[in-house]
Amino acid sequence: MNETWLEELREFIAIPSVSADPAHQDDLRRAAEWVRDFVKRAGGEAELVRRGTRDLVIGDIPASTNGADAPTVLVYGHFDVQPPAPLELWESPPFELEERDGWFYARGIADDKGQLYTLLKAAELLRADGALPVNIRVACDGEEEIGGHSIVEFLEEDDRGADACIIFDGGMTRPEQPEFALATRGLVGFHVQVRTGERDMHSGYYGGAALNAIHVLVQGLSALIARNGLLPDQLRVGRTALSEVEVASLQKLPSGAQILDEAGATPLDANAEHDFYDRTWAEPSLDVNGIHGGKPEFVNTTLVVEAEARFTIRLAPGQEPDTIAAAAERLFRGAVPKDAVVTMERENSAPPGVFAPDSPAIQLGLEAFQRAVGVRPILVRVGGTLPIYPALAEKGIPTIGTGFALRESNVHSPNERLRVQDVDRAVAAATELYKGLAALA
Ligand SMILES: [Zn+2]
Repeated sequence: MNETWLEELREFIAIPSVSADPAHQDDLRRAAEWVRDFVKRAGGEAELVRRGTRDLVIGDIPASTNGADAPTVLVYGHFDVQPPAPLELWESPPFELEERDGWFYARGIADDKGQLYTLLKAAELLRADGALPVNIRVACDGEEEIGGHSIVEFLEEDDRGADACIIFDGGMTRPEQPEFALATRGLVGFHVQVRTGERDMHSGYYGGAALNAIHVLVQGLSALIARNGLLPDQLRVGRTALSEVEVASLQKLPSGAQILDEAGATPLDANAEHDFYDRTWAEPSLDVNGIHGGKPEFVNTTLVVEAEARFTIRLAPGQEPDTIAAAAERLFRGAVPKDAVVTMERENSAPPGVFAPDSPAIQLGLEAFQRAVGVRPILVRVGGTLPIYPALAEKGIPTIGTGFALRESNVHSPNERLRVQDVDRAVAAATELYKGLAALA
């Protein structure tokens, strides 16, 4: 790989921009400044925009061709990284870029500093050649790994918009088969507390006559969880089925059976393997994330009067957080004795995000990738929640969400890595994307 690129990447990677660790706040700022300065060197303008305790980098690299007709492409990436712990499992220091056996190793090389670098590099090279055919807007954050919302707030308030957005922060389920993520699931979370008395009681005196809070909690939760693999109908309202192109993509992905098996998972029911992608892409799901009550660590005969749980619902594309949250609360309350004191506090919430597969930006993007890497990407969904997707969808900005990380890239784990050849391919893909999206003019 080109020596200049290697030096730049090494320098960016060497900044330990761990957003979760307060000791690294200066490093986060240095990483933001690094992005800002790169954009300026590329012939653009950029500045740090402070939001709360963190900086966004907001900038522009103007088109060098196409004049006033050049469309605008928003480039998003995040310059923060996950903590590298446990350090002893790393085979080389996490913040020193190391090349071994065809892979670059370093924290952030795949998620997301290395991939963000390729988007910026491609813009810089085109601009230096006087051949950048789109206006590039750069919007990067340093709190993606801790669930920050500053980039979402920025997009909500922004009225300049863009004709398309490119995000390289994902990867390929199978090597050599690029993917564009068209949709993400949303999220609603609840903290439920149940109280059925003032203090715990002797089950010998009161058992059979007094209400036990753990029983109430379990009854309520039972009304919410999946039966025969699907959530109650009230929680499935609004979901949109997989489109034909998404169903076609399944041919090129590992089977549900393989994915569950590799994770060491127990299938939820007899159809879970066959319906894996339907279940995780096009259906809502509910997981109880923690439950607490009584003293299960001791032998005891207590009638328990306090219990609590946290549960989260992944919302299918098409669903509304408020509608599903209200339905969940009704189902829970409807299933428990009315004399129990139940508080349900709604916590983390994000809508699902959906982009149309046939939009010109997506179609131009597919062709650009085919030219750059020789393979047409498949269109997929993401079972997880990425708040920037619905924010972009809300603004009507079609988004190409893709990337070059592999399942073996150890994202969020020790020895994070990206194939050396994929840095070149990502720069090539970004270059073709910028050229291809010029047709949006
Ligand atoms: Zn990421």
